[in-house]
Amino acid sequence: MKKNGFFSVAFATILLICVSWIFIREVRNNFGDPKNLRVFVEADGATRLNGTPLYGEHGEEVSYEFQTSKGKNKIRIKDGYVSVISADCDNQDCVHHVPIHKRGDRIVCLPHKFVVSIK
Ligand SMILES: [Zn+2]
Repeated sequence: MKKNGFFSVAFATILLICVSWIFIREVRNNFGDPKNLRVFVEADGATRLNGTPLYGEHGEEVSYEFQTSKGKNKIRIKDGYVSVISADCDNQDCVHHVPIHKRGDRIVCLPHKFVVSIK
């Protein structure tokens, strides 16, 4: 009986640690420092930009041009906002999309199967 008690306490402790860890991680993800946000680009089913800091290394403006199998998209990262500044797609929806800045935001260029997201 005593042995069972020990295992129950140990199990409860481990469970509590796991739950706390998950909780802290979620809170950090949702309310964390926006300077930790990163920009990802996917096109043609492949990752083309893998976690560039949203605020840049020193807060400077950066732009990247991507050649997809369907055409070109150029994005700009400036002051914590990401926008598609040019593209040669038909509808130009991605270019007209408002700049994104929050975790989970994304800009999709359907004709090019091009996705910019913030995580
Ligand atoms: Zn587009």
